[in-house]
Amino acid sequence: MLSRHGTGRASGRESAADRAFRAEVRDWLETNLTGEFADARGLGGPGREHEAFDVRLAWERHMAAAGWTCLGWPVEYGGRGATVAQQVIFHEEYALARAPARVGHIGENLLGPTIIAFGTDAQRARFLPPIAAAEELWCQGYSEPNAGSDLAGVRTRAELVDGEWRVTGQKVWTSLAAEADWCFALCRTEPGSARHAGLSYLLVPMRQDGVEVRPIVQMTGTSEFNEVFFDGARTDAANIVGAPGDGWRIAMATLGFERGVATLGQQVGFRRELEGVVELARRTGAVDDPLLRDRLVRAWMGLEIMRLNAVRTMAGVAGDLARPPGSGRAPDAPGPESSISKLVWATWHRELGELAMDVLGAAGLVADAEPYELNEWQRLFLFSRADTIYAGSNEIQRNIIAERVLGLPREPKGTA
Ligand SMILES: Cc1cc2nc3c(=O)[nH]c(=O)nc-3n(C[C@H](O)[C@H](O)[C@H](O)COP(=O)(O)OP(=O)(O)OC[C@H]3O[C@@H](n4cnc5c(N)ncnc54)[C@H](O)[C@@H]3O)c2cc1C
Repeated sequence: MLSRHGTGRASGRESAADRAFRAEVRDWLETNLTGEFADARGLGGPGREHEAFDVRLAWERHMAAAGWTCLGWPVEYGGRGATVAQQVIFHEEYALARAPARVGHIGENLLGPTIIAFGTDAQRARFLPPIAAAEELWCQGYSEPNAGSDLAGVRTRAELVDGEWRVTGQKVWTSLAAEADWCFALCRTEPGSARHAGLSYLLVPMRQDGVEVRPIVQMTGTSEFNEVFFDGARTDAANIVGAPGDGWRIAMATLGFERGVATLGQQVGFRRELEGVVELARRTGAVDDPLLRDRLVRAWMGLEIMRLNAVRTMAGVAGDLARPPGSGRAPDAPGPESSISKLVWATWHRELGELAMDVLGAAGLVADAEPYELNEWQRLFLFSRADTIYAGSNEIQRNIIAERVLGLPREPKGTA
């Protein structure tokens, strides 16, 4: 299993239509990943967002022009209306081609599905096309210095003045804020409100005087995330998803998309990384160590299980996104079950980082050579420590699964 077929992929049970789709994707990637795009193969990804950003953005726009972004969105919103199976195929071929890591993930997988599910027609018309075209990039403004796991502690406030929201407060750990054109921000819009009430989900332009972005240097030496300061930042009164005060419900729906569906694209990178670790193990001889070999096989099995689980989660969400707006029933976002995917992939990926270091052995403890840059395995090890924190930590996912999936008694409040 680890010897001839890498980490495995498409089964022979594909329909003729899916086989034709796979051939179309493969052919397009082969024909288009040339020149500067070919040089960007394998670049980018978590902890390596700094790599060839401009080329990756150009690549994303090139893909968009040919209709290869936002595959799962309905056609009328600029997507392809692709089936779940086709989306899986696309991501598999994308990984096999070692195409550059995507730059528009947050807009495509987090905000887009949220606007499709909860936005107005005007918002869909204004915001979805530039996401599909990779012309506008987004960041997620939830966390604050005193609101992380306990997100209901959000204090950034916004008030309506002369037909505009004016936003003031601080967000933190905001991924890709420095590159983003827009931020979807959870803000307190009802003065004196507390906890989950009185919050609103606002869409705020990043490139304006009232917004300051300060990069935070991470363990990897790069700055994927940032502090964001809003000081009277303005956005049009219409740029609110859902009703004023309904922000908590919308924000949780976005988190559901982040924890569930978005992982399919992420597995592009996972598969590539696992193949790389297997290759490394062959080179270093670690593959002959029975314990390491056992961990490599377990990692492969874990990836397959995650893939199947992501497909199952997506199948539910795809049905919801396909339901026409105004059909009488509000489209659902993924339920608390999406926490299972998040818990599983985050733990798997963190363990893959540890496995890569064990495969490297003592050599993993030193930087290769001047200028002492981390190699990709050291970077994977360090960045994957963050996986069990962002989009909700493992402890929080376990609480959600216990209370909302299994129906166990709620955690006692304020007694710890
Ligand atoms: C790489 C990275 C990128 C990120 N990107 C973004 C982004 O783009 N936008 C954004 O808004 N945020 C982002 N975040 C922030 C992330 O969502 C928060 O870090 C996360 O929600 C945890 O919040 P915190 O850091 O405040 O930790 P805390 O909430 O202070 O938690 C500290 C520890 O206590 C544990 N804990 C807390 N409450 C409980 C409980 N009730 N039961 C058991 N254990 C508990 C946690 O699991 C954790 O181990 C990012 C974080 C990282 C690491």
